[in-house]
Amino acid sequence: MPGGVSSPVRAFKSVGGQPIVFDRVKGAYIWDVDGNQYIDYVGTWGPAICGHAHPEVLAALEVALAKGTSFGAPCTLENVLAEMVIDAVPSVEMVRFVNSGTEACMAVLRLMRAFTGREKLIKFEGCYHGHADMFLVKAGSGVATLGLPDSPGVPKSVTSHTLTAPYNDLEAVQALFSQYPDQIAGVILEPVVGNAGFIPPDGGFLAGLREITKEQGALLVFDEVMTGFRIAYGGAQEKFGIMPDLTTLGKVIGGGLPVGAYGGRRDIMTMVAPAGPVYQAGTLSGNPLAMTAGIKTLELLRRSGTYEQLDQITGKLISGLLRIAQEAGHEVCGGHINGMFGMFFTPGPVHNYEDAKAADAGKFAKFHHGMLEHGIYLAPSQFEAGFTSLAHTEADINQTLAAAKAVLTNL
Ligand SMILES: *Cc1c(COP(=O)(O)O)cnc(C)c1O
Repeated sequence: MPGGVSSPVRAFKSVGGQPIVFDRVKGAYIWDVDGNQYIDYVGTWGPAICGHAHPEVLAALEVALAKGTSFGAPCTLENVLAEMVIDAVPSVEMVRFVNSGTEACMAVLRLMRAFTGREKLIKFEGCYHGHADMFLVKAGSGVATLGLPDSPGVPKSVTSHTLTAPYNDLEAVQALFSQYPDQIAGVILEPVVGNAGFIPPDGGFLAGLREITKEQGALLVFDEVMTGFRIAYGGAQEKFGIMPDLTTLGKVIGGGLPVGAYGGRRDIMTMVAPAGPVYQAGTLSGNPLAMTAGIKTLELLRRSGTYEQLDQITGKLISGLLRIAQEAGHEVCGGHINGMFGMFFTPGPVHNYEDAKAADAGKFAKFHHGMLEHGIYLAPSQFEAGFTSLAHTEADINQTLAAAKAVLTNL
């Protein structure tokens, strides 16, 4: 396996050293093959919002498993999850299930182009929309971690239609629309960035994008693969009260199994085959196991007080980390929204990818390894957000902060 892993950031290249090989997960914890236990703040990069291997998710999966793993034909579980997504996410009137966030973003771009008859797209520096060619321009996450400017093998002809702007910069977006009148199909973004570290939108940024795209006859697409059902049950669009035209989802809606989805306005979504001419398909799409894990996960999230609990636990974590770091003499900034958080080793504030890159990566690497030695598993890159779950307890947070105090004091 190239680099010994199935996905690049797992290899610890950005923090140095060897990755840990894991054996099992449960609740807020993760155990390596040597039997060491860690408190986990990666949560398989977001899906484990109810805690790993939740007993109710496992029980539902056992029932589904007995009926078979894939039908390659319609199953009613797809309708159940589709209804849940449509009820939850304000702008979604119709939805199509796929197998990953990457697939969802690829499909949504084809649809944006088909609907508008335009080819160009605007994305933001440091935003990640999966690994499809058209999005591998200033793409954050693993691309940032490995310092690849773009990827070899991506034809210039494919990315020549990908325009980029700094995050939180409405003037740059307006300038691109002036430069390419009637040529831009739409704007895609992470409504809260998680793939360049945690960067929330400035007040007015999302509303400004909504206004500009509407004026220009272009589409606004929220990539909520990370934020959907994580920063609020209805995602960033519910949290900030902005209606995009299209939305991509993944991570949480698969409950730990491979799922992605895209959805939005009915008049746009009815262009997708076989209702319309825009082709997109998948052998395992909507399979009963993935649908079951997604349905049960959303059911658990719908119980009362879940997001308040995530907010409380994550707020305690991040405010504690920032205070301890500052007391130890480090310049830091950071924040959280419900179950998503981040801290940078820079005085900040961090509004965009340039600001994030100014953070002290060497210090982060030392912090990461120190925390590992104390049994705390953080994402092995400063360009990744952190995640909590409903399984994280006050005691877990206290243990994490005690570890942080020991590590940051000696850093
Ligand atoms: C994780 C992620 C993706 C890609 O999803 P995969 O399932 O890894 O293909 C796309 N967009 C965002 C915002 C993500 O966080």
